[in-house]
Amino acid sequence: MIYNRGNPLDFDGWAQSGLEGWDFAHCLPYFRKMETFADGPDDWRGGDGPMHINRCKAEHKLYDVFLRGGEQAGFSVTPDHNGYRQEGLHVAQSFIRDGRRWSTANGYLHPAEDRKNLEVLSNTLVNRIMIENGAAIGVEVVANGEKHIVTCDREVILSAGAFNTPQLLMLSGVGDPRRVAPPWHQPQGRGPPGRPQLGKSSGRKPAIHNQLRRLPGLRTQSFRSCEVRSAMASDEKRTGRDELL
Ligand SMILES: Cc1cc2nc3c(=O)[nH]c(=O)nc-3n(C[C@H](O)[C@H](O)[C@H](O)COP(=O)(O)OP(=O)(O)OC[C@H]3O[C@@H](n4cnc5c(N)ncnc54)[C@H](O)[C@@H]3O)c2cc1C
Repeated sequence: MIYNRGNPLDFDGWAQSGLEGWDFAHCLPYFRKMETFADGPDDWRGGDGPMHINRCKAEHKLYDVFLRGGEQAGFSVTPDHNGYRQEGLHVAQSFIRDGRRWSTANGYLHPAEDRKNLEVLSNTLVNRIMIENGAAIGVEVVANGEKHIVTCDREVILSAGAFNTPQLLMLSGVGDPRRVAPPWHQPQGRGPPGRPQLGKSSGRKPAIHNQLRRLPGLRTQSFRSCEVRSAMASDEKRTGRDELL
């Protein structure tokens, strides 16, 4: 629900490693095209895309105190972390329209539901991509316990998430089959050999989530002089929390 673009240097790094067309300059027009940013368009932000993005409401004065405190501690505040400069303290932005979550299904899928060239198959599992002579020609799917083949004229676009995308490729014979080959599901495809690194470079994203709470019984006016306790988000069994910031 929070909207954060990837760091531009990551995109440039991928391009430098050989992923042609994925440098940030090439991706920026697509970011702009997808979004309607509530603050309006500029060179970095879009103004008429299907995805609606707002700044989170941070109207309580303590939010500003927090940002100013960060500045005083030597950190910078960025006016738009999805714009020119990502680094810096900021108020989060999120996919919200008219007070409700705005999903990619709202932005892209539902408006296209009536198209004749679109069919959505739910409760359907893709077993493998069918590869012939090095080209993807369709997918094998299972629905209601029955296998079906869906062929394509042009291309298969695979977007099965961070884990299942490389897994499906491996089940289709691309990459190292030993990583996904339990005896009950041997890879059946005849994909291009090699690609031994497929699925091996996923990493953890470290994050520390601090939540501050006003101590029970203290009024906001006296907040500046009171102790603020910072707690890990997972420590949610505390009682008496009367306001989360
Ligand atoms: C707890 C959590 C919080 C997050 N919060 C945010 C956030 O606030 N903001 C943000 O930008 N990102 C957030 N992310 C990351 C974000 O959810 C992912 O980056 C994004 O969903 C990736 O989109 P995707 O379409 O590539 O994959 P996914 O959203 O993972 O979609 C893949 C789809 O493929 C389906 N699928 C997989 N294998 C098969 C198969 N064999 N056959 C048929 N279907 C299959 C899956 O069921 C799934 O529906 C969060 C992630 C998590 C886990």
